Amino acid sequence: MTFVGLDDTDSRDRGMCTTYVATRVATAIEAAGGTVDCTRLIRLNPSIEFKTRGNAALCLETDLDPDRAFDLAVENVESLAAVADPRTSPGVVVAHTTADAVPDPVADLARRTLRERVDLDEAIELADSLGYRHRGWDGGRGRIGALAAVGAGRVFNDWTYEHVAYRSLDRCGTPRAVNADSVFAAADAGAPDAWDTVDRGEGELVCVPAAPGPVLYGIRGDDARTVREVARAIDSEPVDRSATFLTNQGTDAHLQRGAVGTVRNGRAYRVDAVVDDAPETRAGGHVHLTVRDGDDRLPCVAFEPTKRFRDRVRALHSGDRVTVCGEVSRGTLKLEKFALRDPVTTDRAVPSCPDCGRSMESAGRDQGYRCRDCGTTAPGRIDRNLNRDLDPGWYEVPPCARRHIAKPLIRGGFDAPTHPER
Ligand code: ZN
Repeated sequence: MTFVGLDDTDSRDRGMCTTYVATRVATAIEAAGGTVDCTRLIRLNPSIEFKTRGNAALCLETDLDPDRAFDLAVENVESLAAVADPRTSPGVVVAHTTADAVPDPVADLARRTLRERVDLDEAIELADSLGYRHRGWDGGRGRIGALAAVGAGRVFNDWTYEHVAYRSLDRCGTPRAVNADSVFAAADAGAPDAWDTVDRGEGELVCVPAAPGPVLYGIRGDDARTVREVARAIDSEPVDRSATFLTNQGTDAHLQRGAVGTVRNGRAYRVDAVVDDAPETRAGGHVHLTVRDGDDRLPCVAFEPTKRFRDRVRALHSGDRVTVCGEVSRGTLKLEKFALRDPVTTDRAVPSCPDCGRSMESAGRDQGYRCRDCGTTAPGRIDRNLNRDLDPGWYEVPPCARRHIAKPLIRGGFDAPTHPER
């Protein structure tokens, strides 16, 4: 097979989109007599600083001759990609391989590209050593993602689908005409196998992007048939073209196991810890807390755009055993989901006076407590039952705040009860 990897052709200003370029390359391959078996949409490390929207790379798998496929990919990137935008740095990598036959170093690079930062020189050297054809524009940094996309088929074992409908290019920049009622109805019909189509709590169409660009809507889910059915049920302006991608979206592939004391910036983790400083809502509506493991401490934050997720975070209590998940940036973990493992049910409270009911006061160091008015005494603090309104289990940001790569709880496979957002 011929694998055609593409990356970094997005532009924030002009709104081109790598997935759209991939569908145009697929059309060109088919016009040249080839067949495209599968197109993978790979979400890469969501935290690297030069990311475009969602940081996606694509890989088309085709039976067309590698030289011919390479020429077609180069032609389409040159005519469509926003190469004039200094923030884009497109790349194409073409390999003659199959998913199972991807060489170890390419698989390793694909794995690392999702979780850390990989240098362009390393990607180019590797592509050259394997005789892969490649081309880059404006630095060609996109060759890192393109090579990672080539290797992705061997690396990831959890795959989902996204069916993307595109607008005609002359409509780009104008408001998208999508009937909201039809989207909510289609989302209900497609649940739970299609997810993140809408956010019912916010009344928002998650599948319709806000940014300029050719995507009209994208339907994500566990199987190809369901996402296509949901798309078919949506009333909208004319769909110019559409494509179904196999993708690592919704899989939590970015999360690695970490410990409070050893996490590093620019990576995303799953960390077991105990809540140290209780949650506190600060300026802007962001909710901050600190977790600890032994003497190590890690600040965590649930940002304002995570909306009702912050209520779950606020319900945490100092002493709760938790697992927190998210990307670490500037020493702070940005919460995407968490599990409440073992909630504290009591705390140590100052006793109240049995006669007047008021709070006692300290009678001095190691002297217990006393009521100044009644003269009653107590030997020390007492256990007080806490009314906890947060059940153990997993909690997540709502669909409107979910990053592409994060796994929705509705997909299942978690190690505790789940409380999915819809
Ligand atoms: Zn009293």
